[in-house]
Amino acid sequence: MITEFSKAQNQIKSGQATVKSRVEYFLKRIEEFDGELNSFITITGEEALKKAEQMDTLFSEKGEEVFEKMPLFGLVFSAKDMYLTEGVKTTAGSKLLSDFVPPYSSTVISRLTEAGAILIGKTNQDAWAHGSSGENSDFGVTKNPWDKSRVPGGSSSGAAVSVAAGFCDFAMGTDTGGSVRLPASFTNVVGLKPTYGAISRYGVIAMASSLDTMGNFAISSSDSKKIFDIVKGQDGFDQTVLDVNGAAPKTKYTIGVPKQYFSEGMDPSVERLVLDAIEKISQMGHKVVEVELPSTDYAISAYYVICPAEVSSNLGRYDGVRMGLNRDAFGDEAKRRIMLGTYVLESGYVDAYYNKAVAVRDLIKSEFEQAFSKVDLMLAPVSPTLPFKLGEKSNDPLSMYLADVYTVAINIAGVCALSVPCGFSDDLPVGLQIIGPSFGEQMVFDLAQSYQEATDWHTKSPKL
Ligand code: GLN
Repeated sequence: MITEFSKAQNQIKSGQATVKSRVEYFLKRIEEFDGELNSFITITGEEALKKAEQMDTLFSEKGEEVFEKMPLFGLVFSAKDMYLTEGVKTTAGSKLLSDFVPPYSSTVISRLTEAGAILIGKTNQDAWAHGSSGENSDFGVTKNPWDKSRVPGGSSSGAAVSVAAGFCDFAMGTDTGGSVRLPASFTNVVGLKPTYGAISRYGVIAMASSLDTMGNFAISSSDSKKIFDIVKGQDGFDQTVLDVNGAAPKTKYTIGVPKQYFSEGMDPSVERLVLDAIEKISQMGHKVVEVELPSTDYAISAYYVICPAEVSSNLGRYDGVRMGLNRDAFGDEAKRRIMLGTYVLESGYVDAYYNKAVAVRDLIKSEFEQAFSKVDLMLAPVSPTLPFKLGEKSNDPLSMYLADVYTVAINIAGVCALSVPCGFSDDLPVGLQIIGPSFGEQMVFDLAQSYQEATDWHTKSPKL
Protein backbone atom coordinates (compact mmCIF):
# COMPACT_ATOMS: atom_id res chain seq x y z
CA MET A 1 0.00 0.00 0.00
CA ILE A 2 1.28 3.47 -0.90
CA THR A 3 1.03 5.44 2.32
CA GLU A 4 1.60 9.11 3.05
CA PHE A 5 4.96 8.22 4.58
CA SER A 6 6.15 6.22 1.59
CA LYS A 7 4.93 8.95 -0.78
CA ALA A 8 6.91 11.57 1.12
CA GLN A 9 10.02 9.43 1.34
CA ASN A 10 9.82 8.51 -2.36
CA GLN A 11 9.81 12.21 -3.19
CA ILE A 12 13.02 12.66 -1.24
CA LYS A 13 14.60 9.56 -2.81
CA SER A 14 13.75 10.69 -6.33
CA GLY A 15 14.93 14.25 -5.77
CA GLN A 16 11.45 15.76 -6.25
CA ALA A 17 11.71 17.16 -2.73
CA THR A 18 14.39 17.69 -0.14
CA VAL A 19 13.87 17.35 3.58
CA LYS A 20 14.33 21.10 3.81
CA SER A 21 11.77 21.86 1.11
CA ARG A 22 9.26 19.69 2.96
CA VAL A 23 9.86 21.52 6.25
CA GLU A 24 9.55 24.86 4.42
CA TYR A 25 6.28 23.74 2.85
CA PHE A 26 4.78 22.81 6.24
CA LEU A 27 6.01 26.02 7.90
CA LYS A 28 4.37 28.05 5.16
CA ARG A 29 1.07 26.25 5.62
CA ILE A 30 1.23 26.76 9.36
CA GLU A 31 1.88 30.44 8.86
CA GLU A 32 -0.96 30.76 6.41
CA PHE A 33 -3.64 28.78 8.22
CA ASP A 34 -2.80 28.21 11.86
CA GLY A 35 -3.52 31.76 12.97
CA GLU A 36 -7.19 30.83 12.97
CA LEU A 37 -6.99 27.14 13.88
CA ASN A 38 -4.49 27.67 16.73
CA SER A 39 -3.16 24.12 16.76
CA PHE A 40 0.40 25.04 17.80
CA ILE A 41 1.69 26.58 21.03
CA THR A 42 5.33 26.57 19.94
CA ILE A 43 6.78 26.27 16.45
CA THR A 44 10.33 24.98 16.22
CA GLY A 45 10.92 26.17 12.65
CA GLU A 46 14.51 27.27 12.97
CA GLU A 47 15.68 24.04 14.61
CA ALA A 48 13.64 21.99 12.13
CA LEU A 49 15.22 23.73 9.13
CA LYS A 50 18.71 23.26 10.54
CA LYS A 51 18.08 19.59 11.15
CA ALA A 52 16.59 19.22 7.66
CA GLU A 53 19.71 20.68 6.06
CA GLN A 54 21.87 18.21 7.99
CA MET A 55 19.65 15.37 6.82
CA ASP A 56 19.83 16.47 3.20
CA THR A 57 23.62 16.45 3.49
CA LEU A 58 23.52 12.99 5.03
CA PHE A 59 21.34 11.71 2.19
CA SER A 60 23.63 13.18 -0.45
CA GLU A 61 26.60 11.45 1.20
CA LYS A 62 25.09 8.07 2.06
CA GLY A 63 22.26 7.66 -0.41
CA GLU A 64 19.26 5.45 0.20
CA GLU A 65 20.79 3.50 3.06
CA VAL A 66 19.68 6.36 5.34
CA PHE A 67 16.11 5.14 4.91
CA GLU A 68 17.07 1.68 6.13
CA LYS A 69 18.91 3.00 9.17
CA MET A 70 16.27 5.63 9.90
CA PRO A 71 12.80 4.39 8.99
CA LEU A 72 11.22 7.83 9.55
CA PHE A 73 13.91 9.72 7.61
CA GLY A 74 12.66 13.10 6.41
CA LEU A 75 9.21 12.88 8.00
CA VAL A 76 7.94 15.87 9.93
CA PHE A 77 5.94 15.62 13.17
CA SER A 78 4.37 17.62 15.96
CA ALA A 79 4.03 16.64 19.63
CA LYS A 80 1.37 17.48 22.16
CA ASP A 81 2.72 19.85 24.80
CA MET A 82 2.68 17.00 27.37
CA TYR A 83 5.89 15.54 25.84
CA LEU A 84 9.09 16.92 27.32
CA THR A 85 11.36 18.24 24.59
CA GLU A 86 14.91 19.18 25.54
CA GLY A 87 15.45 22.91 25.13
CA VAL A 88 11.90 23.48 23.80
CA LYS A 89 9.19 25.01 25.99
CA THR A 90 6.67 22.44 27.30
CA THR A 91 3.51 23.82 28.90
CA ALA A 92 0.91 21.00 29.21
CA GLY A 93 -1.47 23.68 27.91
CA SER A 94 -1.30 25.48 31.26
CA LYS A 95 0.08 28.92 32.00
CA LEU A 96 1.44 27.40 35.21
CA LEU A 97 4.22 25.95 33.01
CA SER A 98 4.34 28.85 30.53
CA ASP A 99 8.11 29.19 30.75
CA PHE A 100 9.16 25.62 31.51
CA VAL A 101 12.00 24.45 29.27
CA PRO A 102 12.79 20.80 30.02
CA PRO A 103 16.40 19.65 30.33
CA TYR A 104 15.71 16.32 28.60
CA SER A 105 13.35 14.71 26.09
CA SER A 106 10.83 11.94 26.60
CA THR A 107 11.72 8.48 25.31
CA VAL A 108 9.10 8.78 22.57
CA ILE A 109 10.58 12.04 21.24
CA SER A 110 14.15 10.69 21.40
CA ARG A 111 13.20 7.51 19.54
CA LEU A 112 11.34 9.39 16.81
CA THR A 113 14.23 11.79 16.36
CA GLU A 114 16.76 8.96 16.21
CA ALA A 115 14.59 7.33 13.55
CA GLY A 116 14.97 10.45 11.39
CA ALA A 117 11.74 12.35 12.13
CA ILE A 118 11.88 16.13 12.57
CA LEU A 119 9.91 17.98 15.24
CA ILE A 120 8.14 21.03 13.79
CA GLY A 121 6.39 22.19 16.95
CA LYS A 122 4.46 21.56 20.13
CA THR A 123 0.70 21.43 19.89
CA ASN A 124 -2.14 23.02 21.79
CA GLN A 125 -4.22 20.93 24.17
CA ASP A 126 -6.68 21.06 27.03
CA ALA A 127 -4.66 22.10 30.08
CA TRP A 128 -3.06 19.03 31.73
CA ALA A 129 -4.99 16.92 29.16
CA HIS A 130 -8.23 17.51 31.08
CA GLY A 131 -10.95 17.85 28.49
CA SER A 132 -12.67 16.51 25.41
CA SER A 133 -12.93 19.60 23.23
CA GLY A 134 -9.67 21.56 23.10
CA GLU A 135 -11.40 24.55 24.69
CA ASN A 136 -9.76 24.14 28.10
CA SER A 137 -6.35 25.50 27.06
CA ASP A 138 -4.68 28.55 28.59
CA PHE A 139 -3.35 29.28 25.09
CA GLY A 140 -6.71 29.73 23.36
CA VAL A 141 -9.13 27.26 21.81
CA THR A 142 -8.23 25.12 18.81
CA LYS A 143 -10.79 25.06 16.00
CA ASN A 144 -11.96 22.19 13.85
CA PRO A 145 -10.62 22.64 10.28
CA TRP A 146 -13.80 21.00 8.89
CA ASP A 147 -15.99 23.70 10.47
CA LYS A 148 -14.29 26.45 12.41
CA SER A 149 -17.34 27.04 14.57
CA ARG A 150 -16.88 23.54 16.02
CA VAL A 151 -14.45 21.82 18.39
CA PRO A 152 -11.76 19.49 17.05
CA GLY A 153 -12.12 17.19 20.10
CA GLY A 154 -9.64 16.94 22.93
CA SER A 155 -7.55 16.81 24.78
CA SER A 156 -4.97 16.26 22.00
CA SER A 157 -6.77 18.93 19.97
CA GLY A 158 -3.80 20.61 18.31
CA ALA A 159 -2.08 17.32 17.52
CA ALA A 160 -5.11 16.04 15.60
CA VAL A 161 -5.59 19.35 13.78
CA SER A 162 -1.90 19.54 12.85
CA VAL A 163 -2.31 16.32 10.84
CA ALA A 164 -5.83 17.00 9.53
CA ALA A 165 -4.83 20.46 8.28
CA GLY A 166 -1.66 19.16 6.61
CA PHE A 167 0.83 20.95 8.89
CA CYS A 168 3.01 17.83 9.32
CA ASP A 169 3.16 14.12 8.43
CA PHE A 170 2.16 12.79 11.85
CA ALA A 171 1.64 13.83 15.46
CA MET A 172 2.06 12.44 18.95
CA GLY A 173 -0.77 12.79 21.46
CA THR A 174 -1.72 11.21 24.77
CA ASP A 175 -4.82 9.13 25.52
CA THR A 176 -5.92 8.69 29.14
CA GLY A 177 -9.66 8.46 28.52
CA GLY A 178 -10.07 9.10 24.80
CA SER A 179 -7.86 12.08 24.06
CA VAL A 180 -6.37 10.67 20.88
CA ARG A 181 -9.39 8.77 19.50
CA LEU A 182 -11.96 11.53 20.01
CA PRO A 183 -10.04 14.29 18.19
CA ALA A 184 -8.99 11.79 15.50
CA SER A 185 -12.63 10.97 14.88
CA PHE A 186 -13.65 14.66 14.89
CA THR A 187 -10.97 15.64 12.35
CA ASN A 188 -10.92 12.64 9.95
CA VAL A 189 -7.51 11.18 10.79
CA VAL A 190 -6.35 7.86 12.22
CA GLY A 191 -5.66 7.91 15.97
CA LEU A 192 -4.06 5.13 18.00
CA LYS A 193 -4.55 4.50 21.71
CA PRO A 194 -1.90 1.85 22.41
CA THR A 195 -2.04 -0.89 25.03
CA TYR A 196 -1.14 0.33 28.51
CA GLY A 197 2.45 -0.79 28.96
CA ALA A 198 3.37 -0.86 25.28
CA ILE A 199 5.11 2.53 25.20
CA SER A 200 7.20 4.25 27.85
CA ARG A 201 5.67 7.25 29.62
CA TYR A 202 9.13 8.50 30.57
CA GLY A 203 9.37 12.23 30.09
CA VAL A 204 5.67 12.77 29.47
CA ILE A 205 3.77 14.95 31.94
CA ALA A 206 1.62 12.61 34.01
CA MET A 207 -2.15 12.95 34.09
CA ALA A 208 -3.55 9.71 35.56
CA SER A 209 -0.63 7.31 35.74
CA SER A 210 -2.57 4.04 35.60
CA LEU A 211 -4.41 5.15 32.44
CA ASP A 212 -1.96 7.36 30.49
CA THR A 213 -0.91 6.06 27.07
CA MET A 214 1.19 7.56 24.28
CA GLY A 215 -0.84 7.63 21.08
CA ASN A 216 -0.28 8.91 17.59
CA PHE A 217 -2.14 10.54 14.69
CA ALA A 218 -1.57 9.82 11.00
CA ILE A 219 -3.50 9.63 7.75
CA SER A 220 -3.11 5.91 7.23
CA SER A 221 -3.07 3.07 9.70
CA SER A 222 0.14 1.63 8.20
CA ASP A 223 1.86 4.91 8.99
CA SER A 224 0.46 4.81 12.51
CA LYS A 225 1.88 1.30 12.81
CA LYS A 226 5.30 2.52 11.68
CA ILE A 227 5.33 5.14 14.42
CA PHE A 228 4.13 2.63 17.01
CA ASP A 229 6.82 0.10 16.05
CA ILE A 230 9.52 2.75 16.56
CA VAL A 231 8.38 4.12 19.91
CA LYS A 232 7.19 0.94 21.65
CA GLY A 233 9.16 -1.26 24.03
CA GLN A 234 11.21 -1.00 27.18
CA ASP A 235 13.57 1.88 27.81
CA GLY A 236 14.60 1.10 31.38
CA PHE A 237 12.73 4.13 32.78
CA ASP A 238 9.11 2.95 32.92
CA GLN A 239 8.61 -0.32 34.73
CA THR A 240 5.11 -0.84 33.37
CA VAL A 241 6.49 -1.35 29.86
CA LEU A 242 6.67 -4.90 28.55
CA ASP A 243 8.25 -6.19 25.36
CA VAL A 244 5.36 -8.34 24.25
CA ASN A 245 4.53 -9.51 20.75
CA GLY A 246 0.77 -9.83 20.75
CA ALA A 247 -1.35 -11.86 18.36
CA ALA A 248 -0.21 -11.70 14.74
CA PRO A 249 -2.50 -10.53 11.90
CA LYS A 250 -4.86 -13.10 10.36
CA THR A 251 -6.60 -13.24 7.01
CA LYS A 252 -10.07 -13.44 8.57
CA TYR A 253 -11.09 -12.11 11.95
CA THR A 254 -13.94 -12.85 14.28
CA ILE A 255 -15.19 -9.43 15.27
CA GLY A 256 -17.45 -8.55 18.16
CA VAL A 257 -19.88 -5.66 18.23
CA PRO A 258 -20.63 -4.76 21.86
CA LYS A 259 -24.34 -4.24 22.16
CA GLN A 260 -23.90 -1.69 24.97
CA TYR A 261 -22.00 0.65 22.63
CA PHE A 262 -25.13 1.45 20.67
CA SER A 263 -27.11 3.08 23.38
CA GLU A 264 -29.75 5.75 23.63
CA GLY A 265 -28.52 9.27 23.18
CA MET A 266 -26.38 8.43 20.21
CA ASP A 267 -26.70 10.68 17.18
CA PRO A 268 -28.56 8.59 14.55
CA SER A 269 -26.27 9.79 11.74
CA VAL A 270 -23.20 8.62 13.66
CA GLU A 271 -24.87 5.29 14.37
CA ARG A 272 -25.76 4.86 10.68
CA LEU A 273 -22.17 5.48 9.51
CA VAL A 274 -20.67 3.16 12.12
CA LEU A 275 -23.17 0.40 11.25
CA ASP A 276 -22.39 0.88 7.54
CA ALA A 277 -18.69 0.48 8.31
CA ILE A 278 -19.37 -2.71 10.27
CA GLU A 279 -21.43 -4.02 7.35
CA LYS A 280 -18.58 -3.21 4.96
CA ILE A 281 -16.11 -5.09 7.17
CA SER A 282 -18.41 -8.08 7.28
CA GLN A 283 -18.67 -7.98 3.46
CA MET A 284 -14.88 -8.07 3.37
CA GLY A 285 -15.23 -11.63 4.69
CA HIS A 286 -14.83 -11.21 8.45
CA LYS A 287 -17.23 -12.84 10.87
CA VAL A 288 -19.20 -10.28 12.87
CA VAL A 289 -20.96 -11.35 16.08
CA GLU A 290 -22.65 -9.55 18.94
CA VAL A 291 -20.81 -9.44 22.28
CA GLU A 292 -21.66 -8.19 25.75
CA LEU A 293 -19.80 -5.65 27.86
CA PRO A 294 -22.45 -5.30 30.58
CA SER A 295 -20.55 -2.88 32.86
CA THR A 296 -20.14 -0.27 30.14
CA ASP A 297 -22.64 2.01 31.88
CA TYR A 298 -20.38 2.26 34.92
CA ALA A 299 -17.20 3.09 32.99
CA ILE A 300 -17.62 6.89 33.02
CA SER A 301 -18.35 6.93 36.76
CA ALA A 302 -15.39 4.71 37.56
CA TYR A 303 -13.14 6.78 35.30
CA TYR A 304 -14.16 10.07 36.89
CA VAL A 305 -13.24 8.70 40.31
CA ILE A 306 -9.96 6.95 39.42
CA CYS A 307 -8.75 9.68 37.07
CA PRO A 308 -9.19 12.64 39.48
CA ALA A 309 -7.72 10.57 42.34
CA GLU A 310 -4.54 10.11 40.33
CA VAL A 311 -4.65 13.66 38.97
CA SER A 312 -4.81 15.06 42.51
CA SER A 313 -1.69 13.13 43.39
CA ASN A 314 0.22 13.96 40.17
CA LEU A 315 -0.57 17.68 40.24
CA GLY A 316 0.62 17.88 43.85
CA ARG A 317 4.17 18.44 42.63
CA TYR A 318 3.28 21.79 41.02
CA ASP A 319 3.30 23.58 44.34
CA GLY A 320 5.19 26.64 43.12
CA VAL A 321 8.18 25.55 45.19
CA ARG A 322 9.49 22.41 43.54
CA MET A 323 7.81 22.96 40.19
CA GLY A 324 5.66 25.43 38.35
CA LEU A 325 4.69 29.02 38.92
CA ASN A 326 2.08 29.99 41.44
CA ARG A 327 -0.53 27.31 42.25
CA ASP A 328 -3.21 29.91 41.53
CA ALA A 329 -2.40 29.42 37.86
CA PHE A 330 -4.43 26.18 37.88
CA GLY A 331 -7.65 26.58 35.91
CA ASP A 332 -11.13 25.54 37.04
CA GLU A 333 -11.01 22.02 35.60
CA ALA A 334 -7.68 21.17 37.25
CA LYS A 335 -8.99 22.56 40.54
CA ARG A 336 -12.20 20.56 40.17
CA ARG A 337 -10.20 17.35 39.65
CA ILE A 338 -7.81 18.06 42.52
CA MET A 339 -10.76 18.58 44.87
CA LEU A 340 -12.71 15.61 43.54
CA GLY A 341 -9.64 13.39 43.69
CA THR A 342 -8.70 14.44 47.19
CA TYR A 343 -12.29 13.86 48.32
CA VAL A 344 -12.59 10.32 46.94
CA LEU A 345 -9.29 9.35 48.56
CA GLU A 346 -10.07 10.81 51.98
CA SER A 347 -10.27 8.27 54.78
CA GLY A 348 -13.98 7.83 55.40
CA TYR A 349 -14.78 8.12 51.71
CA VAL A 350 -12.10 5.95 50.18
CA ASP A 351 -14.16 2.76 50.56
CA ALA A 352 -17.33 4.37 49.28
CA TYR A 353 -15.77 5.91 46.18
CA TYR A 354 -12.20 5.08 45.23
CA ASN A 355 -12.23 1.42 46.25
CA LYS A 356 -15.63 0.92 44.59
CA ALA A 357 -14.28 2.42 41.36
CA VAL A 358 -11.30 0.08 41.52
CA ALA A 359 -13.69 -2.87 41.93
CA VAL A 360 -15.61 -1.69 38.85
CA ARG A 361 -12.30 -1.45 37.03
CA ASP A 362 -11.62 -5.14 37.77
CA LEU A 363 -15.08 -6.01 36.50
CA ILE A 364 -14.61 -4.06 33.26
CA LYS A 365 -11.20 -5.63 32.74
CA SER A 366 -12.54 -9.14 33.13
CA GLU A 367 -15.48 -8.43 30.80
CA PHE A 368 -13.02 -7.31 28.11
CA GLU A 369 -10.93 -10.44 28.70
CA GLN A 370 -14.02 -12.59 28.39
CA ALA A 371 -15.08 -10.88 25.18
CA PHE A 372 -11.59 -11.29 23.73
CA SER A 373 -11.67 -15.00 24.51
CA LYS A 374 -14.44 -15.23 21.89
CA VAL A 375 -13.43 -12.60 19.33
CA ASP A 376 -10.18 -11.19 17.88
CA LEU A 377 -11.29 -7.57 17.68
CA MET A 378 -14.29 -5.38 18.45
CA LEU A 379 -15.93 -2.53 16.54
CA ALA A 380 -17.72 0.44 18.09
CA PRO A 381 -18.31 4.15 17.66
CA VAL A 382 -15.71 6.58 19.03
CA SER A 383 -18.08 9.40 19.92
CA PRO A 384 -21.84 9.45 20.43
CA THR A 385 -22.09 12.77 18.56
CA LEU A 386 -20.66 14.73 15.65
CA PRO A 387 -18.08 17.44 16.48
CA PHE A 388 -20.05 19.87 18.63
CA LYS A 389 -20.16 23.66 18.54
CA LEU A 390 -17.51 25.72 20.34
CA GLY A 391 -18.97 26.73 23.69
CA GLU A 392 -21.76 24.16 23.57
CA LYS A 393 -20.50 22.11 26.51
CA SER A 394 -17.79 24.27 28.04
CA ASN A 395 -19.91 25.37 30.99
CA ASP A 396 -21.31 21.92 31.64
CA PRO A 397 -18.55 19.59 32.87
CA LEU A 398 -20.89 16.60 33.09
CA SER A 399 -21.99 16.73 29.48
CA MET A 400 -18.33 17.21 28.49
CA TYR A 401 -17.41 14.06 30.48
CA LEU A 402 -20.10 12.12 28.59
CA ALA A 403 -18.29 12.74 25.28
CA ASP A 404 -15.96 9.95 26.46
CA VAL A 405 -18.71 7.40 26.97
CA TYR A 406 -17.32 5.01 24.30
CA THR A 407 -13.63 5.58 24.93
CA VAL A 408 -12.87 5.46 28.68
CA ALA A 409 -13.58 1.75 29.21
CA ILE A 410 -10.74 0.94 26.81
CA ASN A 411 -8.31 2.87 29.05
CA ILE A 412 -9.76 1.26 32.16
CA ALA A 413 -9.27 -2.18 30.61
CA GLY A 414 -5.78 -1.23 29.40
CA VAL A 415 -6.38 -2.63 25.90
CA CYS A 416 -5.69 -0.92 22.55
CA ALA A 417 -7.92 0.84 20.03
CA LEU A 418 -7.71 2.84 16.84
CA SER A 419 -10.07 5.45 15.45
CA VAL A 420 -10.34 5.28 11.67
CA PRO A 421 -12.35 7.62 9.39
CA CYS A 422 -15.65 6.01 8.35
CA GLY A 423 -17.68 8.74 6.68
CA PHE A 424 -19.28 12.15 6.91
CA SER A 425 -22.56 13.56 8.06
CA ASP A 426 -23.31 17.21 7.23
CA ASP A 427 -19.69 17.45 6.01
CA LEU A 428 -18.46 16.51 9.49
CA PRO A 429 -16.24 13.44 9.93
CA VAL A 430 -17.07 10.33 11.95
CA GLY A 431 -14.65 7.71 13.28
CA LEU A 432 -14.99 3.96 13.71
CA GLN A 433 -13.30 2.46 16.76
CA ILE A 434 -11.41 -0.81 16.24
CA ILE A 435 -10.64 -2.30 19.64
CA GLY A 436 -8.00 -4.97 20.18
CA PRO A 437 -6.86 -7.03 23.16
CA SER A 438 -3.74 -6.14 25.16
CA PHE A 439 -0.82 -5.98 22.75
CA GLY A 440 -3.18 -6.71 19.85
CA GLU A 441 -2.05 -3.62 17.89
CA GLN A 442 -0.82 -5.58 14.88
CA MET A 443 -4.29 -7.05 14.30
CA VAL A 444 -5.91 -3.64 14.79
CA PHE A 445 -3.57 -2.00 12.25
CA ASP A 446 -4.11 -4.87 9.84
CA LEU A 447 -7.91 -4.64 9.85
CA ALA A 448 -7.77 -0.83 9.72
CA GLN A 449 -5.45 -0.99 6.73
CA SER A 450 -7.70 -3.30 4.75
CA TYR A 451 -10.69 -1.11 5.64
CA GLN A 452 -8.78 1.95 4.41
CA GLU A 453 -7.83 0.15 1.21
CA ALA A 454 -11.52 -0.51 0.61
CA THR A 455 -12.71 3.03 1.43
CA ASP A 456 -11.57 6.55 0.63
CA TRP A 457 -12.78 8.58 3.63
CA HIS A 458 -9.24 9.21 4.84
CA THR A 459 -8.25 10.75 1.50
CA LYS A 460 -10.59 13.70 2.06
CA SER A 461 -9.14 16.81 3.60
CA PRO A 462 -10.72 20.04 4.81
CA LYS A 463 -10.73 23.20 2.69
CA LEU A 464 -8.90 25.78 4.76
N1 GLN B 1 -11.68 13.72 28.18
C1 GLN B 1 -11.12 12.87 29.18
C2 GLN B 1 -10.81 13.67 30.40
O1 GLN B 1 -11.07 14.82 30.39
C3 GLN B 1 -9.91 12.17 28.64
C4 GLN B 1 -8.68 12.98 28.70
C5 GLN B 1 -7.48 12.28 28.12
O2 GLN B 1 -7.57 11.21 27.53
N2 GLN B 1 -6.34 12.91 28.36
O3 GLN B 1 -10.35 13.17 31.35
